[in-house]
Amino acid sequence: MLSNLKDQPADKILTLMQSFREDPRDEKLDLGVGVYKDASGHTPIMSAVKKAEAWLLESETTKSYTGLAGDPAYAAAMRSLVLADSVAADRVAAIATPGGTGAFRQGVDLIRTASPEATVWVSAPTWPNHLSILKTTGTPFVEYRYFDASTGHVDFDGMIADLDSAKEGDVVLLHGCCHNPTGANLTDDQWRQVADLLLRKKLVPMVDLAYQGFGDGLDADAQGTRILAETQPEMLIGASCSKNFGIYRERTGILFAIGDAAQTKTVQGNLNHLNRQNYSFPPDHGARLVSTILTDDALRAEWQAELEGMRTGMLDLRQQLADELRQRTNSDRFDFIAQHRGMFSRLGVDADKVETMRRDHGVYMVGDSRMNIAGLNADTVPILAAAIAKTCG
Ligand code: PMP
Repeated sequence: MLSNLKDQPADKILTLMQSFREDPRDEKLDLGVGVYKDASGHTPIMSAVKKAEAWLLESETTKSYTGLAGDPAYAAAMRSLVLADSVAADRVAAIATPGGTGAFRQGVDLIRTASPEATVWVSAPTWPNHLSILKTTGTPFVEYRYFDASTGHVDFDGMIADLDSAKEGDVVLLHGCCHNPTGANLTDDQWRQVADLLLRKKLVPMVDLAYQGFGDGLDADAQGTRILAETQPEMLIGASCSKNFGIYRERTGILFAIGDAAQTKTVQGNLNHLNRQNYSFPPDHGARLVSTILTDDALRAEWQAELEGMRTGMLDLRQQLADELRQRTNSDRFDFIAQHRGMFSRLGVDADKVETMRRDHGVYMVGDSRMNIAGLNADTVPILAAAIAKTCG
């Protein structure tokens, strides 16, 4: 049996991490993997998370199974964080999942069960694991135009024109904020236009919200998701707590399915069934940290302050990089870096330029020219700016 297996393609980002480790140069810069790092290159445990863990250690009395959907307190806290009061609670079914990846996978499985003929529309480009999961599950998908490399911004006319050819019942995958890999995002007005198009064409939105709080703030980053929740009859949302709570390895995510209130019980039963078939009970530790933090005023304030510090730190780095590039290239060509949001920006340059920056300057970014802004600090921004200006200026 096992001899029938073929090698899987190597994960590009993990391969890049390996070459970075092996590079002996002192001034090398790791802008590859999508993990937040502070100015010293460390991915910290947030102080509110440490406190919630200490509290759980003392107060938890059992490690017995939770429900199939996970802890209801987690679902309620996340519903309020993501959706606020944009939709009636009785229209929302939810399951805890292993990370945002688990939420996306379960969402795709739900689509396959409910609507096997639906095509999923994905932005060009999107997070590569979206494509990989869609392929693995045999889900039909097509790309819609999204990023305009010549401007560094969203090609909104192209996006709307492409989505206009979707057929009734198709699913449109949208990044809730901080688009990965480009960093280019829709404005609230554009979200409203997308909402109108979805309604008119009877399409179902599926939002992947993996960076709430990393862009313009916790509420601002959920605004597009909430605009859709307010207006659409049906919607899926996969959210991740990996980044905004810094609990990557705890595998903490949630899938929401919003529909007619009369259907919620059936939808919830199907979500529970998906968890049961795939791994039974979802991971609980990270979920319990999140609900502990979100429901305690002091812990929540501490978490929000730390998250806000991370967010504004990344914005400062963006501005510093854009300013440096303005000076060095004598042009506003790279100003979009300051307007992008989240951890990533796609430079929009060819793979050979990415390779030159790695070889000649020790700058490691993903082959599609995605760079992780959180991999920088105030001292390394000039190094990156010099490499970009020299190679791409
Ligand atoms: N969606 C997007 C767009 C992402 O960038 C990521 C993380 N790289 C995820 C989902 C999933 O994150 P996780 O499974 O670690 O929570």
